[in-house]
Amino acid sequence: MLSLAIIGRPNVGKSSLFNVLSRSRKALVADIPGLTRDRNYIKIFIDNLPIWLIDTGGFEPKAKDTVSYKMSEQTKIAVDECDCVLFVVDGRTGCHPIDEQIADFLRKKNKKIILVINKSEGLNFNLTSSDFLRLGFTNNICISASHNENIHILKEIIVSLADHDGHDDYVNNEHVSISILGKP
Ligand code: GDP
Repeated sequence: MLSLAIIGRPNVGKSSLFNVLSRSRKALVADIPGLTRDRNYIKIFIDNLPIWLIDTGGFEPKAKDTVSYKMSEQTKIAVDECDCVLFVVDGRTGCHPIDEQIADFLRKKNKKIILVINKSEGLNFNLTSSDFLRLGFTNNICISASHNENIHILKEIIVSLADHDGHDDYVNNEHVSISILGKP
């Protein structure tokens, strides 16, 4: 099964993207015992393709203080575990020095990278993405997680990447839906 890790420096919208991607197809949420709280795993479907989506905390490759350092160590594990990285950056602030550090880190890994330029609602996509060209990633897309813009194109890129990699474990649509009912 394809696994996708969402990584990026703090506050770029990783969790927002995680929520958008996992809600959009009525995500099946898998609660896996033993997983550390610092990485969240959710099983989602995009066009019937099952995917493990991994959310991570803020990534600062050169972090020295204890909490940031530990979160970054968790992110490194997530990158090692996944097939593909959604590297989230902030289109409003432009390319940040920590984005460059993350790009340096990712270049040393043999992973597929999609550069996701978030918070791009209302911005000129060409201008916005040109600021991030220096990071050197060819697969990039401007989106807005909070405004649900270009999420469908991001999904198409993810699916095409999965097909290209031979992840063709599509499932049929006949899964069970469960409602939880009860008085307050
Ligand atoms: P994380 O720390 O990278 O997980 O970022 P969050 O998902 O917690 O988002 C950080 C802040 O950015 C929050 O205030 C979000 O509401 C905001 N945010 C997330 N996505 C977008 C977006 O597409 N556009 C704008 N303008 N704000 C966003």
